[in-house]
Amino acid sequence: MSTTVAGYPRIGPARELKTTTEAYWADRLGEDELVWIAQQLRADVWKDLAAAGLDAIPSNTFSFYDQVLDTAVLFDAVPDRFRGLTGAGGSPATPLETYFAMARGADGVAPLEMTKWFDTNYHYLVPELDPSTRFRLVGDKPLREVREARELGVETRPVLVGPVTFLLLAKAAAGAPAGFRPLDLLDDLVGQYVELLDDLASDSVAWVQLDEPALTRDLTPAELAATARAYARLGGATTRPRILVSTFFGEAGEALPVLRDAPIDGIGLDLVAGPGNLDAVARAGGVGAKTLFVGVVNGHNVWRADLPAALATCATLSGLAADVVVTTSCSLLHVPIDVEAETNLDPRLADRMAFARQKVEEVVLLGTALRAGRDAVAAEIAAAEARRLAVPDQLVDPRVRERLAALGEGWPTRGDLEHRVEAQAAALGLPPLPTTTIGSFPQTAAIRAARASRRAGTLDEAGYVRAMKTEIDQVVALQEDIGLDVLVHGEPERNDMVQYFAELLAGYAATEHGWVQSYGTRYVRPPILFGDVSRPEPMTLRWAAYAQSRTSRPVKGMLTGPVTMLAWSFVRDDQPLEVTARQVALALRDEIHGLEAAGIRIIQVDEPALRELLPPRRALWGAYLDWAVGAFRLATSSVAASTQIHTHMCYSEFGDIIGSIDDLDADVASVEAARSRMELVTDLRKAGYRRAIGPGVYDIHSPRVPTVDEIEKSLRLALAAVEPARLWANPDCGLKTRSFTEVEPALRNMVTATRRVRESLPDGG
Ligand code: GLN
Ligand code: ZN
Repeated sequence: MSTTVAGYPRIGPARELKTTTEAYWADRLGEDELVWIAQQLRADVWKDLAAAGLDAIPSNTFSFYDQVLDTAVLFDAVPDRFRGLTGAGGSPATPLETYFAMARGADGVAPLEMTKWFDTNYHYLVPELDPSTRFRLVGDKPLREVREARELGVETRPVLVGPVTFLLLAKAAAGAPAGFRPLDLLDDLVGQYVELLDDLASDSVAWVQLDEPALTRDLTPAELAATARAYARLGGATTRPRILVSTFFGEAGEALPVLRDAPIDGIGLDLVAGPGNLDAVARAGGVGAKTLFVGVVNGHNVWRADLPAALATCATLSGLAADVVVTTSCSLLHVPIDVEAETNLDPRLADRMAFARQKVEEVVLLGTALRAGRDAVAAEIAAAEARRLAVPDQLVDPRVRERLAALGEGWPTRGDLEHRVEAQAAALGLPPLPTTTIGSFPQTAAIRAARASRRAGTLDEAGYVRAMKTEIDQVVALQEDIGLDVLVHGEPERNDMVQYFAELLAGYAATEHGWVQSYGTRYVRPPILFGDVSRPEPMTLRWAAYAQSRTSRPVKGMLTGPVTMLAWSFVRDDQPLEVTARQVALALRDEIHGLEAAGIRIIQVDEPALRELLPPRRALWGAYLDWAVGAFRLATSSVAASTQIHTHMCYSEFGDIIGSIDDLDADVASVEAARSRMELVTDLRKAGYRRAIGPGVYDIHSPRVPTVDEIEKSLRLALAAVEPARLWANPDCGLKTRSFTEVEPALRNMVTATRRVRESLPDGG
């Protein structure tokens, strides 16, 4: 009976990994220094976990960018375009430079595609494979970390992405023969994992953790058979550590009997996102001589664990396995580091929460209760329960409850689509292939300084509003000069959009230090949605209205949709998500009314996270999509036919939820597509999508400026699937992470490319 965690944040308590990595990218820090600081960060984690009293400590949970990319590099799954690159100073790229080139692109070299990691807001880089990919164990990162920890006196369990998940998350490289599936390469890849296991065993590593979250998705019989084959071979390897196969984010389902019968030593189950795992283990007749790693402490949300319930779960499962290890439901990568660092929160709200450090304490406490008996820690458990159930102000707002109760059943509706298309054409008078952006413009030093001074109280409200209006003036003038058709105000008042709205909505609280990694060095500080939500005051009205007053072209209002407001927050778990989503939708509905009344004719409601909350198993999709679509429609359905509703989505695979994107009933959807080479447009055509679409024509995550020819090519690719009247031209996503020196030429090229395409249209545009 012991305790562990599935993984731990790697960013450092003061975001050290971000600052040093960015300094290295900016040539202000050498590679050696970056590597050294990373080593200190790892050392601190191991020492902390050991000091907290965990029995088993993970390693190889550090990454300079992403663990899937680490796995690709470990096994040399490096596409040819990243080979032989030139690094700083003209010498051949170092391995680290090549690694970052795969993540971020390099001169003339597009990065790997990026997409979301299951239902989290973490993004991984998608490996590109084809039949010529030859996996070779070329790296030694897992072993190096084991040795590093050992020098500190800490024995660790290296954590790796498992071979099945790696291949299921990979994509066929452009040019791979039709019908090729990355999973076809499983036997080769497993051969290399066997070598790795051998290396680890030779270094006396006792356990290895292979993360297989993809096993909580629906698998085909062939995929299940492949899983069985892979683990038969890995388990059958002559020299190997003990193997833990961890599943996260849902129920192991059909994969559970496969793992039970495989010659491995431990199975990790997520009892938070997959409560049905409990019965499933019983139905399977237990897991025999294996150890169950029971994930009862939620790694994906910030609320304290229900310790008595967790204990009951562990007790039940300990009768069904040779041994039980208490652990987290998934890596703690997805939660901030320490709630004790938060000094501005309502103490009763802080009481309810546990961040990574506190979750480790919960795991340790559960371990003690299981070992020594609950009575031995009765006082600690009672104290934890009292805190978990503390009642902060604003938990319940009767007015919000009444308004919700008065809503009708079913999805709210807008008028007929064709009528809307005509009314909007008359109201807006846009050319074919209208050009626009996704909302944000670069966040300059001046903008950040103004927001910071406002927060610090050194800039008064009037001064702040003046600063924002100056920015809006500049961005509007720039867009007119570039020749964009639909303008935006540029979002200078928000850094993170969800955080911005959360600050203005009742029912939300903000943390000061609650950072979690979103991708690479982009970290977010998700707000805490803990109580009933409402909108006390207009939120975006004055910025949008001001921008509109500066131009005769339409300005698009910019809001964040209910699903995204939930997905990128830590959301209360004391009521169904669906109820919380409807509360947010009503608040947005109020805001949209205000914008429309102020003369804003186009309103975009971003739902980049629509796909993110999709449950891993298809059987649960319908119920989720029903409330997700319902909430979007509740927010957007009260506008006139002539008011155009846009939505925006990015960095997910939307191919299999196109029907629901259609159900949102937005007039225009802009969707990230450049990294996946416009695959989405083909999917849309196949699905008979009837609305207007703006597939992103260039990738905004790369600093390189796309050429006119490239953008023209993307637009023509899109036109092969969508008629010109329904096509928009826009970048992949918001521009806030870029600089004006990149954005201005890129947008000019986009406008030039669009004009070229327009001129070549049959009726001359
Ligand atoms: N309107 C937002 C922006 O442009 C959209 C951000 C997003 O999709 N993540 O920044
Ligand atoms: Zn986006």
